[in-house]
Amino acid sequence: MSLSSNPHTSSVSPAGLRAALGESSPVVTPQDEGYAAARAIEPGGVDHRPAAVVRPADTQGVARAVHLAHDAGAEVSVRAGGHSVFGLGAADGAVTLDLRGLDGIELDVDGRTAWAGGGITAGAYSRAAGEHGLATPFGDTGTVGVGGITLGGGVGLLSRSLGMTIDSLLGAEVVTADGQVVLTDADREPDLFWALRGGGGNFGVVTRFRFALHEVSQVVGGVLLMPATAASIAGVVAAADAAPAGLTVIAMVMTAPPMPMVPAEWHGRVVVMANTCWSGPLDEADTALAPLRDVAARAGGALLDGLRTAPYSTLLEGGPPGGPVVATGRTFFADGVDEAAAAHLLEQLQSSDAMMRAAQLRVLGGAVADVPSDATAYAHRAARVVGNVAAVAPDAATARGYRPWVDALADRLRGGDGAYVNFSLDGGLDTARAAYPGATWDRLRAVKRRWDPQNLFRGNVNVPPA
Ligand SMILES: Cc1cc2nc3c(=O)[nH]c(=O)nc-3n(C[C@H](O)[C@H](O)[C@H](O)COP(=O)(O)OP(=O)(O)OC[C@H]3O[C@@H](n4cnc5c(N)ncnc54)[C@H](O)[C@@H]3O)c2cc1C
Repeated sequence: MSLSSNPHTSSVSPAGLRAALGESSPVVTPQDEGYAAARAIEPGGVDHRPAAVVRPADTQGVARAVHLAHDAGAEVSVRAGGHSVFGLGAADGAVTLDLRGLDGIELDVDGRTAWAGGGITAGAYSRAAGEHGLATPFGDTGTVGVGGITLGGGVGLLSRSLGMTIDSLLGAEVVTADGQVVLTDADREPDLFWALRGGGGNFGVVTRFRFALHEVSQVVGGVLLMPATAASIAGVVAAADAAPAGLTVIAMVMTAPPMPMVPAEWHGRVVVMANTCWSGPLDEADTALAPLRDVAARAGGALLDGLRTAPYSTLLEGGPPGGPVVATGRTFFADGVDEAAAAHLLEQLQSSDAMMRAAQLRVLGGAVADVPSDATAYAHRAARVVGNVAAVAPDAATARGYRPWVDALADRLRGGDGAYVNFSLDGGLDTARAAYPGATWDRLRAVKRRWDPQNLFRGNVNVPPA
């Protein structure tokens, strides 16, 4: 048997892969036991069947696999944490490189830097760094891969105080499309380094990331849950925007899930779940958090005030509610959310019949906005809010039915045409153009032409070579 992504590509054989990679890097094909587990990824409703899943043990294994796939013209997909919301970590007929074996981390505690494997999760990294009172900013969920979140930009609970994940990226070891291992940073191949900071998986397989570590030990964080009203939705966004940069808020406006932490009478009703992190001086936390708590008080009182002093890494624990559900969603940027937009959002969330529906509003600014828009391939530095509207359904067909609702609501909330690549639900040209505006697009295409002229790495929000 040979592996080929479509009739126009040539093929690479499993025997060839096995011979080149050796026993330390297992190759699993549809004929093998363990194929179902090997191809499993996080999002529901995605059922990709790669021709082979390769689990390289090290950088050389990645390089050999890429080399073979490149020479054969086979499609490559890259899987790190497996959380791509539209299932990028696997692709029909592709050679999937599963990087989960590259999960090492080397901390230079005194030098405040870390080398992390391309397949480590944000949670594992943050726990290891947290043991030394250190952190690198990732997102809000520990199971997300450092690989995907970093290459797309990375917005999370430390964004306003320490910037995006890419703002702490110091360098990377990359296997490029021709199977070469390249070290890049601000001085070595600076265009490639620029492109990796937001350009996604377009430019190669990152086998190791070098990050800055910051002193972040105890923070005040957790969930502040309150009834959703037009005033509370707009008020949380405004309070988070006006707060000192030490405060980051990710507001989920959603139908409350039937979780024990939510009072039973609120299950299924629309609430604001403000996932909050104060990483400034602990004795200033109450002052910084007071405006948010005031919003809750004016909305009738907090349904839950879970804001506690805790190690930062514990905020990444826990994940989305499990179970075989499928989401459809749309990302957008906005300058803010005023009361009229908030009233519309509330009315839409209340009237939709999707089993769960939500708008996530992440307030940016702070250190995110301190970086010039052309300094990284993530260019939306001026946006005050990155959002996402989502409807959850039991299966893919039902989820597709909510697409017009999702689009209309995102259109009402958005402030322009931009898209955040990590929240995008498709990898088409329109999405890529929205993610990479103007000069960013042109520069990315030129970098792509240099490093991947044949577009081997196209299982992503794709930037075609210039
Ligand atoms: C529950 C959940 C929570 C999330 N929270 C946040 C958040 O707080 N902030 C945020 O910014 N995003 C968040 N995201 C979005 C997330 O950042 C993206 O989905 C990201 O692509 C996931 O990365 P991954 O490695 O887990 O996924 P994968 O599916 O394994 O990888 C996605 C793609 O990234 C590329 N890639 C990954 N690793 C590498 C590598 N080492 N080298 C080359 N290419 C690579 C490949 O193109 C790959 O197909 C969240 C997603 C989910 C599902």
